[in-house]
Amino acid sequence: METFQSAPRAVRHDVRIVWMLAAAIALVVFLIDALTPLDIAIAVLYVIVVLLVASTGNRTATITTAWGCVVLTLIGFILSHDENVSGGALARCAVSLLAIGTTGILSLRNQSTTTKMQEQLELLNLAHDAIVAHDMNDRITFWNRGAEALYGYSAQEAIGQPIHRMTQSNSPVPHAQIRTELLRSGRWDGEITRVRHDGGEIVIASRAALLRDANGLPRAVLATSNDITQRKRMEAELQRQRDALKRSEAFLLDAQRLSRTGSIATRLPAGTMWWSDEAYRIFDYPRDVEPSIDAILARTHPDDIGIVRGAHESAIGGACDIDVEHRLSLPDGSVKHVHFVAHRASTEADGDEYVGALMDVTDTKLAQEALARSTAELAHVTRVTMLGELAASIAHEVTQPMAAIVTNGDAGLRWLNRAQPEIAEAQQSISQMIRDAKRASEVIARIRAMARKRDSQPATLDVNEIVGETIELVRRELGRHRVDVRTELATPSPIVQCDRVQLQQVLINLFMNAAQAMSGVSGPRVLRIATGESQSDEGYAQITVQDSGTGISVDNARRLFDAFFTTKAEGMGMGLSICRSIIEAHGGRIWAESPDEGGARLRFVLPENQGADDEH
Ligand code: ADP
Repeated sequence: METFQSAPRAVRHDVRIVWMLAAAIALVVFLIDALTPLDIAIAVLYVIVVLLVASTGNRTATITTAWGCVVLTLIGFILSHDENVSGGALARCAVSLLAIGTTGILSLRNQSTTTKMQEQLELLNLAHDAIVAHDMNDRITFWNRGAEALYGYSAQEAIGQPIHRMTQSNSPVPHAQIRTELLRSGRWDGEITRVRHDGGEIVIASRAALLRDANGLPRAVLATSNDITQRKRMEAELQRQRDALKRSEAFLLDAQRLSRTGSIATRLPAGTMWWSDEAYRIFDYPRDVEPSIDAILARTHPDDIGIVRGAHESAIGGACDIDVEHRLSLPDGSVKHVHFVAHRASTEADGDEYVGALMDVTDTKLAQEALARSTAELAHVTRVTMLGELAASIAHEVTQPMAAIVTNGDAGLRWLNRAQPEIAEAQQSISQMIRDAKRASEVIARIRAMARKRDSQPATLDVNEIVGETIELVRRELGRHRVDVRTELATPSPIVQCDRVQLQQVLINLFMNAAQAMSGVSGPRVLRIATGESQSDEGYAQITVQDSGTGISVDNARRLFDAFFTTKAEGMGMGLSICRSIIEAHGGRIWAESPDEGGARLRFVLPENQGADDEH
């Protein structure tokens, strides 16, 4: 195959020199032809002149030169011959003219072929793709501008080099196989990794075709290539992200299922919605239901429709965050509690996009309700138990005014039954009866108030005062267990913000547990109750209840505060669990320790009510 070079690098003849040379030769030939009596066809040498001019590629100049040479040949012939022209001379002239004519025509034809080829080469250079031709020994024979740009080698550097070695070609398919395929089918396409002149590695998509000569023998390979390095990198990155995406999608689905949290996206005001699988499950809708606010309202508990509508309207009104809790009423009659939190994720010309999480909090809600119920129950039970404890002392208080009423009643009757009734005395007895009856009913009213259930009512409390009061409430019970109560109350007394009855309840539980733990021991039964500032938690008041009882085993220590954990035959195992929920609800914490001297030490801390000191 011929070696082509791209047009700008084609050997450029210095046209002027060529023309001058051609003119000089033409002059010499003419002089010899016209002035010397040589019997040879010297005019044939005009062929050189025509060829020289034709080599410049100028078509008009070639035609003009050819005709000029014809004219010069004729002039030379006329000048060198008189009327006696020999047949030989005529023949020589004819041969010269024929030679000039033939050369001119052939040169013109060659010129048009070359021009066409140049045009085609220019076209190849216009292509963005790299176009390379190489012979069957892999030697590069054509290298367009696209190839120069892609590989960084100029055509001059590349032509004649073995393509695969120069560019360190590497392909998943061996070269031999590519060659076999080319020879078999005449074409091959695939990806090849190559190294640029600057050392950079590139991946190219290459399409190669085999060129055969007139005899069908393979002569060359023409290949067009383009750089797909960036595309490959992006494909790889895309692929990686698609993995990653699939994995996180799976994680998300799992997480949604496990946490019973669905996702809801809404575009407002259009109202178009998207629900995740878990959202469908929470609403108990099949997947073919179109998500919409109406579909949500259809599942909303009739009493909570207002809440959902309100949230929807505030989102339409442009609220940034939505946070509502409501109930769903499902077709099977069950009720679910859900917590929906959403925020405005983006604002576009056609509206706002909200994304939110819908959490099924039914279990949590039911557990909370159960705990609240049992806390209330226990508070109630404790108070009723306390009533038992108090009954004796109360009975004493009530019996005394009752006895006084009876005595005064008797006295009053006696004053009236006299022959001469003593009205004034009887009046006094009746007034005393009324006073005593009032006293008795006050005592009863106090008992009634204690027995009534009520909600948590935080108040500013003096810790020492509550400890003292509670000890008094259970003193009888402690006495029955022969417990020696010792108090170490800090001055000034810590002040906390807490529900009085609940704090008493915690203390009663701790005191009673201590009393029960000590009931089986033979040694001294000491209950130490201490108040003060917490050493570990700054700004917290600490209350310590320590006993000299059986103590807490390592195994039990872990489960002490678990609901229903009890080691007592008659125990419920709710006491410490409720103590913990009460303390934590007030921002504190409770824990148990095993002191070196034996027994158990239960401690809890509550945030101190700063600045409340003045009130107390
Ligand atoms: P209950 O008193 O009904 O068993 P609690 O929750 O009050 O329920 O107590 C759980 C368990 O913790 C008790 O059964 C007991 O084993 C242990 N415990 C609680 N207080 C003490 C203590 N002061 N000394 C030893 N063990 C204790």
